[in-house]
Amino acid sequence: MRRVISKLTLAVSVLALPVFAQTPPQSHFDGKSWWDHVKVLADDNMEGRETGSPGLGRAQAYVVEQLKKNGIEPAGADGYYQPVKFIQRQVIEKDSFAALIRDGKSETLTPGNDFNFSTRSDTGGQEISAPLVFVGYGLQIPEKNFDDLSAQNLSGKFVVYLSGSPSEIPAALASHYSTIAERWKSLRAAGVIGIINIANPASMDIPWSRIALNRLHPSMDLAGAEFNESEGLKLFLSFNPAQAEKLFAGSGHSFAELAALAKDRKPLPRFSLAVSLKSHVAVQSTEIESANLVAKLPGSEPVLKNEFVVLSAHLDHIGIGEPVNGDRIYNGGMDDASGSAVLLDVASNLKAHPEKLSRSLLFVFVTAEEKGLLGSRYFATHPTVPAKSMIADINIDMFLPIVPLKFLEVKGLEESDLGDRATSVASSLDVKAIPDQEPLRNRFIRSDQYSFIVKGIPAVKMDVGALPGSPEQKIFKDWLTNRYHAPSDDLDQPKDLSAAALYEEIIRRLLIETANTPVRPQWKPDSFFRRYAAN
Ligand SMILES: [Zn+2]
Repeated sequence: MRRVISKLTLAVSVLALPVFAQTPPQSHFDGKSWWDHVKVLADDNMEGRETGSPGLGRAQAYVVEQLKKNGIEPAGADGYYQPVKFIQRQVIEKDSFAALIRDGKSETLTPGNDFNFSTRSDTGGQEISAPLVFVGYGLQIPEKNFDDLSAQNLSGKFVVYLSGSPSEIPAALASHYSTIAERWKSLRAAGVIGIINIANPASMDIPWSRIALNRLHPSMDLAGAEFNESEGLKLFLSFNPAQAEKLFAGSGHSFAELAALAKDRKPLPRFSLAVSLKSHVAVQSTEIESANLVAKLPGSEPVLKNEFVVLSAHLDHIGIGEPVNGDRIYNGGMDDASGSAVLLDVASNLKAHPEKLSRSLLFVFVTAEEKGLLGSRYFATHPTVPAKSMIADINIDMFLPIVPLKFLEVKGLEESDLGDRATSVASSLDVKAIPDQEPLRNRFIRSDQYSFIVKGIPAVKMDVGALPGSPEQKIFKDWLTNRYHAPSDDLDQPKDLSAAALYEEIIRRLLIETANTPVRPQWKPDSFFRRYAAN
């Protein structure tokens, strides 16, 4: 149908010309080539691309085949591949328990309903018990003289904290200190032996029922002591906010009162709880292997071609899980087949329609993002190109082209001049760049760009955005509730091909501009993350 040009459509086109003249300049993309890649990567045959699974192996084989076919050079450790080793951990729930002790009496807690065991728990084959102390947000942020920990004696205790941060703490800083690595550093120094986290009901991406459904899913860590972020942590539980009152009974405070404060990012009190907790967690460990994929498009300038602008996305997803509406395959269409597809599409487009590139471009398809940014962490720690040669990371993860692209939400917008470049590139296409609209969700550290940031490399993550209170924001919210990390993030969901095409054009232009601007991207003088660049 589309190829038939009748006199009528020609006439209409001519009449419509003034309208076309106002639309943004021509994109190099149509959205269809992007979706064609998504269709392969998120097919049921890929079985949700779980790290280390044959399904992810098939997805990687497809990516390699496409890169080869389009003449994008390998830049891994073994061709396009960079092997990565993991330790997988799984809680054996039938051999584990947790109970509250109140006035000498034990109240057994029910996994799934009251709480979930984290596989970071390591009770060393023994039952352990300790008093509980509530520590507000559980954060220690020296830059802002913010300290939830020092006022109480926490030695030998289990601490209870509510996810989130007070409004006086900038989002990026709060995000950084909310990582398990940073949290555990300060908690361990305070003598804490275990952690109970309560999700902030105001900022939960996934309802508790769905979190609980997949609670026995194995977790992974990078193999090797250099990557152990929770050494000495004996117990880690995630508590269901709907059951959290039982932790606070008798303390003089209610969870409802605390959640109301946290919703508005107000200061939280810190106090001892009237209960202790005893627990034993049985965890089974297995070794797993997977790989990152790395490819490059070489630059042309004799010196600058030894520097790289990185475009990254994760190829893994969460595999096969508990059925929802009879579907067990968690396809990960938007999360993040969509981002991997952009890498393939932009790389092959730049190869087919060459642009002047002073620096080289590096395309990194990481593994194990869903396990805690592990593949990118491994890559940023042991890169297949010299570490100092990577000048920027543009990361794509679940950019959600499900509404027209009018606003580009840039995580890290105000942290480096990469944010300024993204703003002007977007603006050249009549798209307005906006900062993170939901700082409570910690998204600046929740995807692979963070692995590059902590190595000092300026980074941004860009998504289709919406303004607060808009109908588009409601669409995103519904998507998170119903499809995020659910089997319905599949090929039968609505998508906006023109939004994807426009997004790809922004990525393409930002890559070209960053590759050709003589000065490397810089952190802003007042950015917290600038400190990493000094190392
Ligand atoms: Zn995900």
